[in-house]
Amino acid sequence: MQPASDTCPRCGSTARITTAELATDNTGLPIVVKVPRRPDAAVFKHMEYATLRVTICGACGHVDLYAKQPEALYEAFLEGEQHRLG
Ligand SMILES: [Zn+2]
Repeated sequence: MQPASDTCPRCGSTARITTAELATDNTGLPIVVKVPRRPDAAVFKHMEYATLRVTICGACGHVDLYAKQPEALYEAFLEGEQHRLG
């Protein structure tokens, strides 16, 4: 489910910037989050990656970040917990 982005959760403004992207300055490569399926592995942690959706408030500057494909990240997290605890 997509969170509502029509008002700022901090100041209530409707000046919402929804076309921003997170990227590194130099290369323009997108910033990602990653969740390991094998958190205890030395090398091959089998990361699940996701890019982030960004919404910025044009009035106060508050930034909301949402991971795309959160279900895949959570599934990777649960798999990692099974390996870590198992
Ligand atoms: Zn705001």
